[in-house]
Amino acid sequence: MIAIDGPAASGKSTTARLVAERLGYLHVDTGAMYRAMALKVLEEGIDFSDTSSIETLVDSTEVTLKSINGELRTFLDGVDVTEKIRSREVAKAASSVSTIRRVREAMVKEQRRMGKDGGIVLEGRDIGSVVFPDADLKIFLTAGLEKRVRRRQVELQKQGLQVDLEPLRKEIADRDRKDATRDASPLVKLPDAIEFDTSNLTIEEQVRIVVEKAKEIIRRQNQRL
Ligand code: C5P
Repeated sequence: MIAIDGPAASGKSTTARLVAERLGYLHVDTGAMYRAMALKVLEEGIDFSDTSSIETLVDSTEVTLKSINGELRTFLDGVDVTEKIRSREVAKAASSVSTIRRVREAMVKEQRRMGKDGGIVLEGRDIGSVVFPDADLKIFLTAGLEKRVRRRQVELQKQGLQVDLEPLRKEIADRDRKDATRDASPLVKLPDAIEFDTSNLTIEEQVRIVVEKAKEIIRRQNQRL
């Protein structure tokens, strides 16, 4: 069981996806689940300050992740929303709905169901602290704000969107602040997590670090059997 936590655009998704691929594990992007829930709130036209309506909505909403032909897809009430949840509007909305405890409880329940048998790489903000505090390997990824802003810009360019650095810088900094200061499961770096800064690492390097740590743990666990 591998938990990868860290702030927005720190390289979690890419790292988690490739680590899972190399180990033959399942990849679970928990951010995608909060994004899907946020999309539903937006589509229903509910105000983000209307906590009680969002709490009621959670009970009648199904958010699931499925691996289809080796690719992780996100489903909202049975509809594939994988591409739709990648907008800036949804990212901002996700950091609002994720502050609501009932929303978190529902998402965490589903994440625990998916992860109960291990062989999984989960990434998010609260995986090592709340979802699976007994994870075998906990990683905390960071990167400087400028680096993360540029990465997000490149990601958006790939979607055909040209966005200036300044608004992106503000959006990411706002999301960081909200995620780290909320009452429910804030983003924290745990003492038992291995922290590394991906600012000056290539994707290959960051993936290799995690895979080597994982293999070391697997070897040790096998020796004990
Ligand atoms: O990781 P990603 O940027 O897709 O996450 C979107 C938002 O979902 C985050 O800004 C955060 O507010 C929320 N989130 C969370 N807990 C997680 C994963 C994501 O609160 N485990």
